Amino acid sequence: CGIVAYIGHREACPIILKGLRRLEYRGYDSAGVALLNGALNVYKKKGKVNDLEAFIAEKDTHAHIGMGHTRWATHGEPNDSNAHPHYSTSERIAIIHNGIIENYAALKTHLQKQGHVFHSDTDTEVFVNLIEEIQKQNSCSLEEAVRLALHEVVGAYAIVVLSKDDPNQLIAARKGSPLVIGVGKDEFFLASDATPIIEYTNEVVYVNDYEIAVIRDGKLDIRTKEDVQQTPYIQKLEMEL
Ligand code: GLU
Repeated sequence: CGIVAYIGHREACPIILKGLRRLEYRGYDSAGVALLNGALNVYKKKGKVNDLEAFIAEKDTHAHIGMGHTRWATHGEPNDSNAHPHYSTSERIAIIHNGIIENYAALKTHLQKQGHVFHSDTDTEVFVNLIEEIQKQNSCSLEEAVRLALHEVVGAYAIVVLSKDDPNQLIAARKGSPLVIGVGKDEFFLASDATPIIEYTNEVVYVNDYEIAVIRDGKLDIRTKEDVQQTPYIQKLEMEL
């Protein structure tokens, strides 16, 4: 239901938690974060952002790249394992997702035959394993694997993906669910709407349907899912804090 991600020079976790709180008005049943610092640490809990914060108080949350999610369950009951982020079978790729993947059941059966292991009842976990399988089969970049995966999923989504193998990169895409990128100085924010972003920057790019945004090494690249490069349209927000 709510998405927040950060890449830059600041500590990611406090920015993500604060952002998730700003999205609480959307309603949710669980919350979680994925933080990349050499290791990929995923922490998630049924309940409120406060419950997540209490849960991670003693954990390693240091990272300059990470993402968080508040879930409004559509597939699978609200519990810790169905909460986002979800990670792939190799535990190298993580995803957060708003929306619904309609053809997840067929994809899941197929992926299970290829050896993928599932820890949740969600449609989202299918998406991240599909990306992993495509990357393995094509020996391609994560960006390319995400792009190809978008051609196989049917439904609505805003997603953010990160991988242990690309520690300086966030990939996002949308169709049907909103997604905004905040462009700061050598830092980027991603969120379902601008409310978690405005205190850091008023320059935003609204991702369009069927677009993939790659933030890598301080640069933003937006392409259609047909791989046609787009010129990001940076809007200046005038909002009262
Ligand atoms: N369909 C996903 C799930 O049930 C995402 C729900 C959401 O948008 O929060 O986990």
